[in-house]
Amino acid sequence: MPEALHVAITIGTRPEAIKMAPVIKALAAQPEAFRVSVLSTGQHREMLSQAFSLFSIVPDVDLHLMMPGQSLAALTQGTIAGLTEFLSGHRPDMLLVQGDTTTVFAASLAAFYLGINVGHVEAGLRSHDMANPFPEEANRRLTSILATLHFAPTARARADLVREGHDPGRIVVTGNTVVDALVGLSDSLGSARSPLLEQLAPDAAQTVLITSHRRESWGEALGDICAAVADLAEAFPDVVFLYPVHRNPRVREVVFATLADRANVHLLAPLDYNTFVLLLRDVTLILTDSGGVQEEAPTFRTPVLVLRRVTERPEASCLGMA
Ligand code: UDP
Repeated sequence: MPEALHVAITIGTRPEAIKMAPVIKALAAQPEAFRVSVLSTGQHREMLSQAFSLFSIVPDVDLHLMMPGQSLAALTQGTIAGLTEFLSGHRPDMLLVQGDTTTVFAASLAAFYLGINVGHVEAGLRSHDMANPFPEEANRRLTSILATLHFAPTARARADLVREGHDPGRIVVTGNTVVDALVGLSDSLGSARSPLLEQLAPDAAQTVLITSHRRESWGEALGDICAAVADLAEAFPDVVFLYPVHRNPRVREVVFATLADRANVHLLAPLDYNTFVLLLRDVTLILTDSGGVQEEAPTFRTPVLVLRRVTERPEASCLGMA
């Protein structure tokens, strides 16, 4: 019998954990075909742990790379060094990376230097603007150049890869794994209204969920978004606004300075995925700059206003759902 293929999977941030959970589960269900190692870079420490524990993922290696105020160059450097040590010692048959984070690009480069095949999940997304999102658009393009196999979520993403000259024989359209993650959770969600909404907005007929923390929004754009939310909260006192605020201090500073101490605005700690998904399902409207949230909301047909100038995920808006 042929030996099982060793597939190593790198995960750096919360969305990577959520979107790779169904892939890890599917690979682990075929132990005769695949041996899986999960490598956490810990780019987002606490929020990543939340997602790992929800999906029962136990990383085989944790590089603990999160440092407060760390530059992108330092993060890239640390990821390449840490992963090179693991990859050269274990020589997996393939390294799987997901999405567009610095972890994805740095891990792909480390594997490429060692002649290890890279499979890129969520390949082919393009905003066609290197400054938006920054540095994610560059991370995605660079990873496509380094990857051996491209797992594109949609036909549109595949078409963009083909247009850039990538071999069509190495592109597989898989669908979006975030939908698999949501489907996997659906049994445990039940039909009762979100307990958090019951607690914070028991009588509100209309509720708005906000997430905003994208790097290119830091500073002025995030200040403008928060000022707009403050105006809305004042104009619509009966509407309850819920904003789980990212752990990044550059985000928290701006959000709390503008939106703290308002009766109908609740600034929350990042929520575990179950709790957050129930909110996604049950609120009236979502305002977000998150790529993942933009993809998840249409599953529940909750309307989304995308707080960005351009997006690499136009599918929902093309269908009139965002
Ligand atoms: N999310 C979560 N708790 C929260 C906010 C978001 O579990 O408090 C989930 C959300 O459902 C989505 C993912 O985190 O799956 C999005 O992560 P993030 O906004 O950090 O990244 P992006 O989608 O912009 O890459």
